[in-house]
Amino acid sequence: MSESIHPVVDGGVRQGSGSFQGGTLTCLCTDRPVKVRIEGDVAHNHACGCTKCWKPKGVAFSVVAVVPSDKVTVLENGDKLAVVDPSALIQRHACKQCGVHLYGPVERDHPFKGLSFIHPERFDSSGYAAPTFAAFVSSIIEAGVDPSRMEGVRSRLKDLGLPPYDCLSPGLMDYVATWTAKRSGALPA
Ligand SMILES: [Zn+2]
Ligand SMILES: [Zn+2]
Repeated sequence: MSESIHPVVDGGVRQGSGSFQGGTLTCLCTDRPVKVRIEGDVAHNHACGCTKCWKPKGVAFSVVAVVPSDKVTVLENGDKLAVVDPSALIQRHACKQCGVHLYGPVERDHPFKGLSFIHPERFDSSGYAAPTFAAFVSSIIEAGVDPSRMEGVRSRLKDLGLPPYDCLSPGLMDYVATWTAKRSGALPA
C-alpha cells in the first residue's frame, strides 16, 4: 500500500484550470466560520512536511501556496483569528476555535515579504494551480513519522509528480539565495 500524503493529492494531483480567479477560504467551524477572500490564483503550491503548517488531523503533509498579501481580505469573523507564533517569519493567522490557518503573511525584511501563505484545500472552489513539489520532507519525522517509512513516502511523492526536497524547491532556494547575494553585494543589485 502506498503512503498517504494528503487527501487532496492521494488520488492523483488535479491540474489547475489555468484561469482560477480566486475564491473564499473557510475554516472548519460550523458556527461563525472565518471566511477569507483571495483574489486571483495561487503560486508555488506544494506539499509541506514542516511541523508549523496547518494540516488536517492525522495527515503527514500540509498543502500550502502563496498569494500576494494585498490579494487577501478577511470577509467574516476575523475576531476569531490569532497569530500562532508572533516571532515566526510567517505570521500564521489561525482560527482560535478550530485551528485552521487562514493566511500567513510575511511582513519582515525577507525575500518572501509581501506574500501570504494559504491552504488552497480550504477554497470553496476548484481549479487553483496544482502543487508541483514537496518541501521539508524529512521534517515529518519530527512530527512522529517512523524514519523507516521515508523511502516509501519519497517514492510516493515522486509517483505523484511532487519531487521531494528536504528544504524548499531548487527554484525557491535559488530565489532566496539571489536575494541574499544582492543584499550582501556578492551579486549586483
Ligand atoms: Zn474555525
Ligand atoms: Zn510547512
